[in-house]
Amino acid sequence: MSDSTNKHGLPRSIPPEVKQQLRQEAGFGCVKCGIGIAHYEHIDPEFKDAKTHDPEKMAYLCARCHGNVTRGFWSKDMVWEAKAQPFCIKNGHCHEAFDIGSTQISLIIGNTELVGVDHILLVNGKRLLSILPPETESGPYRISGLFYDSRGSLVFTIEENEWKGRPDLWDITCEGGLIVIKTDPKNIALQIRCNQNRSLTIEKLDMFFDGVRWCVSDGILTFEYRGYRETISGYRLSTDGRNGTAFIFDNGIVEMGKAGENSVNLGPRPGQDNISIISNTRFPHG
Ligand SMILES: [Zn+2]
Repeated sequence: MSDSTNKHGLPRSIPPEVKQQLRQEAGFGCVKCGIGIAHYEHIDPEFKDAKTHDPEKMAYLCARCHGNVTRGFWSKDMVWEAKAQPFCIKNGHCHEAFDIGSTQISLIIGNTELVGVDHILLVNGKRLLSILPPETESGPYRISGLFYDSRGSLVFTIEENEWKGRPDLWDITCEGGLIVIKTDPKNIALQIRCNQNRSLTIEKLDMFFDGVRWCVSDGILTFEYRGYRETISGYRLSTDGRNGTAFIFDNGIVEMGKAGENSVNLGPRPGQDNISIISNTRFPHG
């Protein structure tokens, strides 16, 4: 028996489709306690005796709950019961999927920095993406988003970290401070990294609404509308207060930075020399 296979020659690595099935049936949290960061565990038989990665004999369990099983505190029957009625499915949400800490102070989208901004995208009056500060000191950042496909159908929504939508249409992984949300195996709708330097980075984004598409890839934010494609890069937008909005599209006009009564500062981000902005640009519509 080597490190990478068991005595039956079964590799330790679990096929992605098995992982996805386990994650989805669990509602994206530990079947027993609902924590959003969990592992794919062979229950019975255990991995050392398993001949296949059979999702029927495996469960999505967090390290703590799995430890209780392997140390014999909990019976395997308890795991089967939890697998049949997973915590997140029973409770309708995965409460720690976005528990990414409460000490971050800035948000990076592509290579643009937002400070004191709660709402990121507002398109024709609809808030598409928001990241609100924690409600309590130890609480998680609260992410809300509306994810439409290119045909204008709502695929799924996140409302203050609560997922709503058909489970077969999306997939989420949450590992080591990296949250990845996919609408299909090839398309990442949102990828957020929690950095040690007190910031959150939106590394990937693909949002579509009312003919407007916002994308982040390779560190660049782009805006697409009616065949126009513009890059937004390298600046810093800050507001004096909360409740600011970073990018506003309203009937063909793109604006950057709105904060009600509070002032907005828009300028180059330190260390960036390639600045491009499209603020107050009118795009043809009709
Ligand atoms: Zn657990």
